[in-house]
Amino acid sequence: MSDLDAFIAGLPKAELHVHHVGSASPRIVSELAARHPDSAVPTDPEALADYFTFRDFAHFIEVYLSVVDLVRDAEDVRLLTYEVARDMARQQIRYAELTLTPFSSTRRGIPDAAYVEAIEDARKAAESELGVVLRWCFDIPGEAGLEAAEETARIACDLQPEGLVSFGLGGPEIGVPRPQFKPYFDRARAAGLHSVPHAGETTGPGTIWDALNELGAERIGHGTSATQDPRLLAHLAEHRIPLEVCPTSNIATRAVRTLEEHPVKEMADAGVLVTINSDDPPMFGTDLNTEYAVAARLLGLDTTGLAALAKNAVTASFMDTTAKAKLAAEIDAYTASWRG
Ligand SMILES: [Zn+2]
Repeated sequence: MSDLDAFIAGLPKAELHVHHVGSASPRIVSELAARHPDSAVPTDPEALADYFTFRDFAHFIEVYLSVVDLVRDAEDVRLLTYEVARDMARQQIRYAELTLTPFSSTRRGIPDAAYVEAIEDARKAAESELGVVLRWCFDIPGEAGLEAAEETARIACDLQPEGLVSFGLGGPEIGVPRPQFKPYFDRARAAGLHSVPHAGETTGPGTIWDALNELGAERIGHGTSATQDPRLLAHLAEHRIPLEVCPTSNIATRAVRTLEEHPVKEMADAGVLVTINSDDPPMFGTDLNTEYAVAARLLGLDTTGLAALAKNAVTASFMDTTAKAKLAAEIDAYTASWRG
């Protein structure tokens, strides 16, 4: 392990863009598969590692959906959530806003109240037993249309779990215009939730403008195409609207061709508040520590720069002021004590 990798491994971190089911590591998938022996997913760790080796993007989607299929009851939801927190604790992630798609579970027949109880149980246990503070972003799976939007807004606003802080929109962008979701974001925002849609991952800067103007976006998921519009970059910098950048994900989904061509440096140089995230880490063969190492290379960061990057996520998070100050102080203390 290089010196910088060792620094990253111990650095206290916050993560703002990471999906629930997309965080199921082979270890977690094997536990879920063992609960449902009728599924096609192998339980043996070796066979599972092979299963997780994606041939192409279509194969990735196939595997992803087979993992979605393993989350069948409230206990699966609880187990997945708690075990994701355990993987986070190992990476020194202290705080995460986890993107959940309750629609996928309620559509499968898990009652909404049982779903909410399961995630809240996992959240409380993760905080007291693992030292990981979890908060939720409930996101609309865009491909499932307005029915999913209605259901997601209803669960978010009517059940309002204690850990819920934000409302999102994921899935494909092509053929799924953002403005149609405005009424649902209006409702969620009126209920006190923050707006954090995905935008500009696979489409142009117009989608990011729509997310800002129509959905009241306070942070942008990905925002990769922002660098195609200098006026937009300046707007994001001026209004301190952070970007949730996920470098390896962008390569895996072909949103960006190579890491060398990734626009993250251009974003940072324009004064935009850049945060680094892992999106669907085991699915993309990465984790947050690896993403920080990638960012260090692309942005030319040393330990001080990496600490500043970690603090960007604290600033951009929806923690309260006291919690932000505490985590920022922990990052500073760790950095100051690092080999000297
Ligand atoms: Zn995402």
